Parts: sequence; structure tokens; C-alpha cells
Amino acid sequence: MFILSGPSGVGKSSLISKIRERFPDVHLAVSATTRAPRPGEVDGVHYAFVTRAAFEEGVRRGDFLEWAEVHGNLYGTPKRAVEPLAAQGLTVLLDIDVQGFRNVRRVRPGTPAIFVAPTSNSVLEERLRKRGSENPAGLAKRLENAQREMAAMGEYDHVVVNDDLERAALELEHLLGLRESRTPPPQR
Ligand code: 5GP
Repeated sequence: MFILSGPSGVGKSSLISKIRERFPDVHLAVSATTRAPRPGEVDGVHYAFVTRAAFEEGVRRGDFLEWAEVHGNLYGTPKRAVEPLAAQGLTVLLDIDVQGFRNVRRVRPGTPAIFVAPTSNSVLEERLRKRGSENPAGLAKRLENAQREMAAMGEYDHVVVNDDLERAALELEHLLGLRESRTPPPQR
């Protein structure tokens, strides 16, 4: 099990998709959230989209490995999204925020954690604007939260700068133990 964090818009989802294309045995734990689906997001694939009441009921039942309020919505990692996969020895990625990272480290100390960082704040802001998925208030909240998340990057085991999708994906694959050597294959 690996924790992946990084500010909204840094490109974690693209990195994870790229890695999963090459390593289908890598799984992403599907989180539950009370946020509304964005166009193209599929319930049960990107997230389990639930009501606040259903989420809170899950918290009371102890369904979550960790949960947190992020940008005004609740997000949590259901234990059943992780444990059966981890028990089979499969690589499971948790795409969670800094609060989630700290909570998982409390219950599962030693879980490796990687922070994905942007090359600069302005690149991040541009990516978020281009994605166009947020209204102005949502965008401002994500930019503000990005600064808080970046301040926590020193708590992680590794920081991967997403300067180039392919390069960063390769670096992550090494860190996840999916590739044996850090030396890139020879160019033909
Ligand atoms: P978004 O709304 O952009 O999909 O995600 C917003 C933030 O919530 C991201 O930083 C993402 O890593 C975080 N997040 C997604 N799922 C979970 C989860 O299950 N737990 C926690 N703590 N954070 C999550």
C-alpha cells in the first residue's frame, strides 16, 4: 500500500492512469466522497459518490481506514477498497490528501508515502484553470489548500516533481518497486 498526495490539479490522476496502463496489477483504492461527480466521472470507478448522511453512517460503522474534509466535502478510503487487494499482495495506491496521509500513518505506521509536486505555483494555477472543473470559489479554495499541502511535503518519504508526465511516471514506477533499476533503458 502506498500513499500518494499532492495538490489538486498537479496531475496525480494522469500519473496513476499512465502507471496502471503499464502495470495493470496496480490498483487505485476507490474513495467515497460527498462531492458531486464532474463530467465524465463514473460512480464506483473514480469515486463512490455518496450523500453526506450515507458517508456519516459509514464513519459511525467504522467503514473507513481514514477520512477527512477536503475543500468542503468529505472524502474517505473505505477499508473494503484496500484490504482485499492488499491481502492478495497487489499494489494499492491511496490518492489522499495530507490529512488522510497523517491519519493512515497513525493507524499503519510505515506506509510509504510519496508527494507529487508541481514545478511551480503558477503552473499549478494554470492547470487548474485549464481543467475548468471548478467555479471561481472552488478554484480559490483549491489554490489556497495547495499552499497548505505543499508546506507538508517534507513529511513524505519521497517527492516527485511532475515536470513531465512520462518522466514522473517512470520515477514513480521505480519508487513503487515496479521497475528494478533506476537506470533508464538504453536509447536505440
Ligand atoms: P478531487 O475533488 O479533486 O477529486 O480531490 C480533492 C482532494 O481530495 C485530492 O487532494 C485528493 O487526493 C483528496 N482525496 C481523494 N480521496 C480521498 C480520500 O479517500 N481521503 C482523503 N483524505 N483525501 C482524499
